[in-house]
Amino acid sequence: MTFFPHPYWQGLRVLWTHSWHCALAPRCRPLPPLFSRFHCYKEVHRAFSPTTSSPDNSERVSLLPSKANSRKIGEGKGRGKHNPSVSHPLFSAGAAKNRSRKLGQDKGQASIYPDDSVLLPTKPLNSEEWDNMKDKWKTRKNFESWIMKKMVKNNSPLDVAKSLLAWVAKRNSSDLGYNLLINYLTLCVYQKQTAEIIDLYKILKAKYRCLESGAYTLLIRGLSHSDHWRESLLLLEKVKKIITPSKTNYGDCIQGALLHQEMDLAWDLYQEMLGYALTPTWNTFQLFFDTAKGVNDDQLKNKLLDILLYLRDHQMYPEESFVQSVKAWFESIPGERWKGQFTTVQKSGQCSACGKNLESLHLSPEEYDFLKEKIMKDVIEGSDQFRKTSPEELEKYKNFVKRHPPFDIVIDGLNVANMKSKVRQSLTLLNMVTQLAQKNLRLLVLGRKHMLYGTANWRKHEMEAVQKNAACFFTENTSEDDPFLLYATLHSGNHCKFVTQDLLRDHKACLPDALTRRLFFRWQRGHQLGFSSYSAGNRIVFQPVLSYDTLVQTTGDSWHIPYDENLVERYSYEVPTKWLCLCREHEDRRRGKWALTKGQNKLKLVTGIEE
Ligand SMILES: [Zn+2]
Repeated sequence: MTFFPHPYWQGLRVLWTHSWHCALAPRCRPLPPLFSRFHCYKEVHRAFSPTTSSPDNSERVSLLPSKANSRKIGEGKGRGKHNPSVSHPLFSAGAAKNRSRKLGQDKGQASIYPDDSVLLPTKPLNSEEWDNMKDKWKTRKNFESWIMKKMVKNNSPLDVAKSLLAWVAKRNSSDLGYNLLINYLTLCVYQKQTAEIIDLYKILKAKYRCLESGAYTLLIRGLSHSDHWRESLLLLEKVKKIITPSKTNYGDCIQGALLHQEMDLAWDLYQEMLGYALTPTWNTFQLFFDTAKGVNDDQLKNKLLDILLYLRDHQMYPEESFVQSVKAWFESIPGERWKGQFTTVQKSGQCSACGKNLESLHLSPEEYDFLKEKIMKDVIEGSDQFRKTSPEELEKYKNFVKRHPPFDIVIDGLNVANMKSKVRQSLTLLNMVTQLAQKNLRLLVLGRKHMLYGTANWRKHEMEAVQKNAACFFTENTSEDDPFLLYATLHSGNHCKFVTQDLLRDHKACLPDALTRRLFFRWQRGHQLGFSSYSAGNRIVFQPVLSYDTLVQTTGDSWHIPYDENLVERYSYEVPTKWLCLCREHEDRRRGKWALTKGQNKLKLVTGIEE
């Protein structure tokens, strides 16, 4: 493979040649003869004439947030604002963000461009100008590295950064250090300056026997889009010698392969990364669907359907652009007549677009027993939190639960009482208990002993009224109450619900494997009652408990895929509210076209004969 075949390389080569001779040479391998022609200052200055176009602001915005691609799937997503007036159930996308906003915890997004007190140059500077600038910032340790980092952060024009390197290279005393090179490489990769990246790669290869993984990552990213994309595969091998490559490393190599129609290679890389238990990024998944559009190949089709099943198994919720690609791919499969619609699901669990019922959230008796056993073992008996309680208290509590017939609702008394800060705690608790008791529900209130002391917040007569309407258990003030809550609810059976605004994340984390955690999350969503409002009339409104499961699902002839809308922030314990509904249209061979119509479970004629 020949490097530097084009005129573009001249600029960088000149710079590198110079710095090579001046500063780097002692530690280098012998120079390629090509470089020796370029080492005088005149050449250097010519090389730094402002020829690189500087990106405008719109490019900057699209370049920098690409960091978002590397965020962990399912974690909170900072993707702008959503309408705060929409009411969200406890587990719905955006609900947590909404709650934190109400609590005044939302500080807003930090600006991408911090107000730099230093004004970065917008045009290349000559040596004298850099000297002056350095003088101005003489208090800064390592001015060169500091200013380069600022340039990277602000996505400065490449030729400005180059003029800095030229100046550093010119001052014989100063080496073009590794960090300076890597920061410059970062800038080149941001700006997709392939020619510069290739030159830098050549330089780095010559100067260092091996690089650290961050530099390989940059090079893989930079080369995968170019004609030199196969080099990124070699770099991936080098990364493997140091660490497990990242999902972005694989994603970039896969992208390079797909862009160059090497489908088999792309799938091999995909399988390899799954073998490392790496979760591909949405971008990687999406590329497979985009590339396969309109291709008639059953094997390929099955691979793509496997991706969707992978999302199901890992309870992953796609982002909007991914489902758009999925929709486009389904609709492009020759001869299959798929139709996709973006839709919502009704409370009953019926898809608003096709009318099919989604999978139930309800746990089967086997699943329930399995989960109950795991929680008892791993969360309640195995957890340090529960050990905060004394063995005597635990024993006392277990006997208390056994003595009572199964409960219908278990209430986290302290959590409920704090629901409205302006209302006395014991009154809030009493209101909830009275309201639920009127429905003839068997209640258990979990509380702490201090609630019985008769204080301004906890009136004695109100707590007595609570105890008349519900069974109560008061733990030591230092005990953790969640495990008590889980124990009583699970012990009472699959019908029993619990009331708390707490999301029990710590307990979910105690569970040993992904399957159990998913089961716990399903159980939690089907059994936890959140309250959405507490009106002046003291009526407490509970949020509806979902009856259907939110995960990728299929019946063969249909797919339902929940996804995250671009502008809604969702926390890892919430589920999306938007769905992609995909159904195969059926055709009546004699006359007219059959289709699944809105709100109906049956096939109905859209055109042609009436039903
Ligand atoms: Zn549907």
